[in-house]
Amino acid sequence: MRWDSLRLDEGQSADTAGPVAPALFGRDTVARTFDTPGFRGMTFYEVHARSIINRVPEASRVPFRWTINPYRGCSHSCVYCYARNTHTYLDMDAGEDFSKQIVVKVNAPELARRELASARWQGEHVAMGTNVDCYQRAEGRYQLMPGIISALRDAANPFSILTKGTLILRDLDLLCEAADVTDVGLNVSVGFVDKAISRSVEPGTPSPERRLGVCAAITERGLRCGVLMGPVLPYLTDSPAQLEATVRLAAEAGAAHVSPIVLHLRPGAREWYLRWLQETHPDLVESYRQMYGRGAYAPKAYQARIAALVAELAARYRIGQASPGQARRVRERPARPAARPAAPSSVQLTLL
Ligand code: SF4
Repeated sequence: MRWDSLRLDEGQSADTAGPVAPALFGRDTVARTFDTPGFRGMTFYEVHARSIINRVPEASRVPFRWTINPYRGCSHSCVYCYARNTHTYLDMDAGEDFSKQIVVKVNAPELARRELASARWQGEHVAMGTNVDCYQRAEGRYQLMPGIISALRDAANPFSILTKGTLILRDLDLLCEAADVTDVGLNVSVGFVDKAISRSVEPGTPSPERRLGVCAAITERGLRCGVLMGPVLPYLTDSPAQLEATVRLAAEAGAAHVSPIVLHLRPGAREWYLRWLQETHPDLVESYRQMYGRGAYAPKAYQARIAALVAELAARYRIGQASPGQARRVRERPARPAARPAAPSSVQLTLL
């Protein structure tokens, strides 16, 4: 990989690194490793991004237009992760590199504050956790989110966060302060509650139980938190009993709403997921070939059946349902602002 010559071990000066991928990141970039549990085998590329509030591509069907993603790559390592392919734009692979070669936009907080104050910025909703998880392990070390949330709070700018990380609880005071002055949409991602499957297919994430604990803790502080039931894995986590267990535990955690999303397999995630399936559930490979033979999405009838089952369960457990926009508390879009150049890093896939 072309950045290997720039590797630094902890304790070395970051100043000794040379320029890396200037077309992507601008100023000098350093690669750093940490010899501490949880970070062994990982490399962090500390970059200075040119912009941090990025426009969602026009073709995207998501209900928001702007995102902040302080990281690229994700140590949560979900086999099915829809963002895997974005790592190939960085000359890295969508498999191991995605989980172990993490790009850290170290100037994200100062950029966020500056861009929010710009006369061109019109105060639209900013979504976070849309490409990779902003509360992945690296955030414990780099602590970029407090600065970003503070900037959004000070600008009273509406925003939302979707995460599988428990680290969000560190920033709960800040989130409460922000919710006092603007719309804040919080969601945890829990597609299923089967611990064994989670350990296998989401090896770097906190357990589903701990993620629902995050939902409970947020709710106890008086903020609303939804559960994105994504992804529902065909033949593995889609039985009525499994769906019921997830909705019931989400309700017990005080979830404001629950939104099911069936697995989709875009390039990058597709190869990685099917390889995992072949190793762990070879008997299901043919069924998946049939289900996903025509593209990235499961058949509409299947998606509708899951949606109907979850709707019924949500009603039974007195939990609300929400569209992707409602889950993130995105308000009706204001008039389109003047054209704003999109940064190269703005290309993204989304979990919603
Ligand atoms: S699905 Fe989310 S938490 Fe899992 S690897 Fe991808 S970005 Fe990280």
